[in-house]
Amino acid sequence: MKIHAAVTRAKASPLSLETLDLDDPRDGEILVRVVATGVCHTDIAMRDQTYPVPQPIVLGHEGAGIVEKVGRGVTKVAPGDHVVMSYNSCGHCDCCHEHAPNYCHDFFGRNFAGCRSDGSSALSQDGKLIHGNFFGQSSFANFAICHETNIVKVSKDAPLELLGPLACGIQTGAGAVINSLKVRPGTSFAVFGAGSVGLSAVMAARAVGATTIIAVDVVDDRLTMAKELGATHTINPKGGATVETIMKITGAGVNFALDTSAIPAVIRQAMESLAPRGTCGILGASSLDTELTFNAMHIMTAGRKLQGIVEGDSTPEVFIPQLIDLFLQGRFPYDKLVKFYPFSDINHAIEDAETGKAIKPIIRMG
Ligand SMILES: [Zn+2]
Ligand SMILES: [Zn+2]
Repeated sequence: MKIHAAVTRAKASPLSLETLDLDDPRDGEILVRVVATGVCHTDIAMRDQTYPVPQPIVLGHEGAGIVEKVGRGVTKVAPGDHVVMSYNSCGHCDCCHEHAPNYCHDFFGRNFAGCRSDGSSALSQDGKLIHGNFFGQSSFANFAICHETNIVKVSKDAPLELLGPLACGIQTGAGAVINSLKVRPGTSFAVFGAGSVGLSAVMAARAVGATTIIAVDVVDDRLTMAKELGATHTINPKGGATVETIMKITGAGVNFALDTSAIPAVIRQAMESLAPRGTCGILGASSLDTELTFNAMHIMTAGRKLQGIVEGDSTPEVFIPQLIDLFLQGRFPYDKLVKFYPFSDINHAIEDAETGKAIKPIIRMG
């Protein structure tokens, strides 16, 4: 079938809107009519070749839509179902078996290789291969092929066009707090970076009952938003003394810290802000040669921990419906982060994500 897609053809260049051919779904695959898709910073990083994803490629990995057709063997969803497409996994490695598909041994292959595991792509143009299968979906298009392993059926009571970002950015921030760090009622939490991931973490920290919630960001508007969403304190590091200010607020440091910036100096501050037995989570995409330094005694003598986190340790089938329930009950108002754009304005949406004008852009396919 013919589809409309935004194709990334060159490093750090605007996406081009083109007509492509999309194959029928194979065994275990699902054809989804994309209603809307979020823009995540990973899309931008892949456009700019932070990791060597092959081009030309259709990016997009926060797709929400309606099942159009299912391939042979698919039992999880049926045509007409409302769905969200999340990250993909192999379904049969040790981590997948242990319900940790976010650490799938083939995570890179299933999400970033730009093709199916046999090297083929469902996308082409005039017989020439276009890379696809980005995060098992390539949802910067009005139709996408995904897999039984990364599709999540969602309630028809929820506003479908708002749900895509739950598949990556929002799930990452909220999951880091709820699933990874397991922030508890009455504890203290600090997030470094108040973009869509950091603000999702703030909302989740409030939802689970943290009583001291500190947001750190250089943009004052984001700190205002963080306060609106549940932060009890905000710090603009431009004033200096971030760690000292956190110590003043908490006495002994925070029980939980989360870095969303992926900047080594900021991660060090997050570690230095920890109370004894505190844990710091890191989840941002650094370049492949980034190294971190810490004071060994500061970690060892007080049982502090550093924890790597991918996709908020979320099993999407379980966690996305939970976030939808919290949203519908008004306890996770992530719609406040969203700005909608028509598909024709996708480059504008990406630019607004880069400059910070939009916290979480969503593209409506129309
Ligand atoms: Zn796996
Ligand atoms: Zn993402």
